[in-house]
Amino acid sequence: MVKQPIPVGLRIDVDTYRGTLKGVPRLLDMLARHDITASFFFTVGPDNMGRHLWRLLRPAFLKKMLRSNARSLYGYDILFKGTLPWPGPDIGQKLGHLIQQAHYLQHEIGLHAWDHHKWQTRIDRMSADELHREIERGYRRLEMLLGERVSCSAVAGWRCNPATLAQKETFDFRYNSDCRGDAIFMPKGKRTPQIPVTLPTYDEVIGQNGITDENYNQYILDAINPNGLNVYTIHAEAEGIACASLFEKFLLMAAERHIKFVPLGALLPQDSEHLPTGTIEAVEIPGREGWVARHSSLSSRSR
Ligand SMILES: [Zn+2]
Repeated sequence: MVKQPIPVGLRIDVDTYRGTLKGVPRLLDMLARHDITASFFFTVGPDNMGRHLWRLLRPAFLKKMLRSNARSLYGYDILFKGTLPWPGPDIGQKLGHLIQQAHYLQHEIGLHAWDHHKWQTRIDRMSADELHREIERGYRRLEMLLGERVSCSAVAGWRCNPATLAQKETFDFRYNSDCRGDAIFMPKGKRTPQIPVTLPTYDEVIGQNGITDENYNQYILDAINPNGLNVYTIHAEAEGIACASLFEKFLLMAAERHIKFVPLGALLPQDSEHLPTGTIEAVEIPGREGWVARHSSLSSRSR
């Protein structure tokens, strides 16, 4: 009997200049070798991620650094970039050709952020106009690079609030992937479906509850639900650089289990009219600092 493949949405978030420069080409090679097309969500403006250095002073981030060996994960250049008084390098301007290459290789290309760090740290304080401007700057840059409309987006750090959902609606994306959850849903009163991320990321679980590089791949594979939605996020900064060989082993193990990685757009139903309605809520999740948006299943049941 031929086993039906289990579709798993594969999403590659690209947060930094270094991740784009070093991680993206390596992932493109690897995905080509394994005959996989996926969704890349790019950060296309300035790389100010080094401003994360201030987080070293916070116990939660320090713990994560020790747990995940963040120096090898992110590299010194990322940790220090943006701590200087001038803005970080403009990713889309300097490395647009790598974004175009991913597009040329048939991967689905979406917008992650204009300025990843600004989005993650300032969204709570941004007005509707500011939110719109941030998305629009990224949208215009990516549209210019691709030479066509941008079909999808995924906010930085899963930081999405109702005001963001309202602004995103004006860009006419085919879908957004802005939250965590277990099922595709339609945000109440909107027309753009949300495809939530269902599985944890490497940096969220490594070093916790006995999870190490030795058993991490198995842990993720065991968390895949053969009968439900599965969306997995990797980072160009991690799986494209420091964890690249670990990730390649993951692809081999997944193939043995009849898992077929697909771009997120391939998970959308033909007809989004009948998707359950839902809302998002801000929650804290293990291994990640601050809040992330999660699909609130409560309201999807009481639609
Ligand atoms: Zn990101």
